[in-house]
Amino acid sequence: MIGDSDDTPLDLAVIGGGASGFFTALQFAEMAPQKTIALYEKGSQFLQKVRISGGGRCNVTHACFDPRDLAKNYPRGSRELMAAFHRWQPSDTIEWFQQHGVTLKTEADGRMFPDTDSSETVIQCFLNLAHQYGIPLHQKHGLTGISRHADGGFLLAFENQDELIHANHVCFATGSLKASPLLHQLQKMELTIESLVPSLFAFNVSDRRISGLAGVSHPQVAISREGHGAQQLGPILITHRGFSGPAVLRLSAWEARDLAACNHHFPFLIDWLPTIDQESLKSRFAEIRQHQGAKYVSNTPIPPISRRLWESLVLSCEIDEKMTWGQLPKIASDRLLTSLKCSRFEATGKTTNKDEFVTAGGVTRPTIDFRTMESRVVPGIFFVGECIDIDGITGGFNFQAAWTTAHIAAKALAVR
Ligand SMILES: Cc1cc2nc3c(=O)[nH]c(=O)nc-3n(C[C@H](O)[C@H](O)[C@H](O)COP(=O)(O)OP(=O)(O)OC[C@H]3O[C@@H](n4cnc5c(N)ncnc54)[C@H](O)[C@@H]3O)c2cc1C
Repeated sequence: MIGDSDDTPLDLAVIGGGASGFFTALQFAEMAPQKTIALYEKGSQFLQKVRISGGGRCNVTHACFDPRDLAKNYPRGSRELMAAFHRWQPSDTIEWFQQHGVTLKTEADGRMFPDTDSSETVIQCFLNLAHQYGIPLHQKHGLTGISRHADGGFLLAFENQDELIHANHVCFATGSLKASPLLHQLQKMELTIESLVPSLFAFNVSDRRISGLAGVSHPQVAISREGHGAQQLGPILITHRGFSGPAVLRLSAWEARDLAACNHHFPFLIDWLPTIDQESLKSRFAEIRQHQGAKYVSNTPIPPISRRLWESLVLSCEIDEKMTWGQLPKIASDRLLTSLKCSRFEATGKTTNKDEFVTAGGVTRPTIDFRTMESRVVPGIFFVGECIDIDGITGGFNFQAAWTTAHIAAKALAVR
C-alpha cells in the first residue's frame, strides 16, 4: 500500500533511463532549468539499448526530412507521428546532437550514425549533459506502484526502496511493456494497452533450396505473405535459420499482428526478380536458348542472382546440372520461371534480429494527446517512446520516434 510523503514534490519524475527517458529529461532541463526533475531506471545501467543499437554504432535517425514520407515508415502510429514530426523531426535531431558535440553522418541508404561509429558517443553525451544539468539519475529504481496524491500529483513506489517519491507529473519512458510488471499498474489506472507482439524479426525456414547457402544475400526481392497483404521490397539474406535482411524485417513489421496470430508459422512468396515481369523473363529465357543454347542452365544465372543461389533454384526445379538451355523442356522452363517469380516457402517460427527489434503494441494511441504526450485518461501522466503503440521499421525510425515524443513531452511539461 502506498502511503504519504512529506517531501516537496518533484516537478517531473521520468520512469526509464533509456533513449526516450534521457531525451525527455535533458530537454526538460534545458527548457525549464528552474524546475525539479529526477530520472529512475530499474536496471543497474542506463541507456542499455542505445549501447547495443545498430550493432554498437547506434542508428540515431534517418535522413528523411518530409514528415509525410517519414511517417510512412511506421506500421503503427503513422498518422499521429506525421503531425508530431512537424514539431520535431530528423533535422531537429541532427541539429540537437550537433549542438551537443555529436556529429551524425549519413550512409547511402539514409541511415544516420554518429561519425565515430560508436553508440558510446551518444551515451557519453547524454550522461555528461545530465551531470552538467544536475539531473539526479537513480539506477536500480524499478517503479512498482503509482497512486494519486491528495494534492493532485502522484506517489511513486520503487522496488527495494522504502521512500515514496512525490511528483507533480510522471513521464513513462519504460520501453516495451511486454512482460512488464507495470502493465497491471497501468491497467489499474484504466489505461488501455494494445496487445503486445514482436516486430522486426527474421523467419525460420528449413528448406533444401536454401540449405548450405547461409551468408548468401540478394540485392532485391519482393516478399509477401501468401494470399495476404502487400509485397515488401528490399535486400534479403539467407541465414543459418532461414531468411533475414531488410525485406524480411519489413514484412515482419507490417504484418506483425497477423504473424503473431498464427504463431509465426505461415507460407510466404519470394519474387527473386521483381524488376522483370513474367513475360519479359520468358523472352529472356528464349533469348538465352537462342544465343547460348549450349550452356548449362545451372551455371548461367540471371543477374543479379548469385551463382550459388541460382544453382540451388535450378536443381530444385529438377533440372539436371548438365542440362543445357537448348535441351530444357518447356515444363522445366515453366517450373524455373515460377521458382524465380514466385518461390513459396514456409516459415516455422521467428528469430529476433540482433541489430534491431521492437515491440508492436503498448499504450493505446487515442488515449494520448500527441500535442503534449499527456494521457487523456490520467492527466499528469505522460508517455514517450516504445511504451506507446508505435513502432517503425529498421533504419533509425524507432529512435526518431523516441526523440520526437520525448521532445513534445518535455516542451509541454516545461510550461506546467
Ligand atoms: C538490439 C537492438 C538494436 C536496436 N537498434 C536500433 C537502432 O540502431 N536504431 C533505432 O532507431 N532503433 C533501434 N532499436 C530500437 C530502439 O532501441 C528502441 O526503439 C528504443 O530504445 C526505445 O527507447 P525507449 O526509451 O522507449 O525504451 P528503452 O530504450 O527500452 O528504455 C526503457 C528503459 O526503461 C527501463 N524500465 C522499464 N521498466 C521500468 C520500471 N518499472 N522502472 C524504471 N525503469 C524501467 C528499462 O530498464 C530501460 O532502461 C534497437 C533495438 C534493439 C533491441
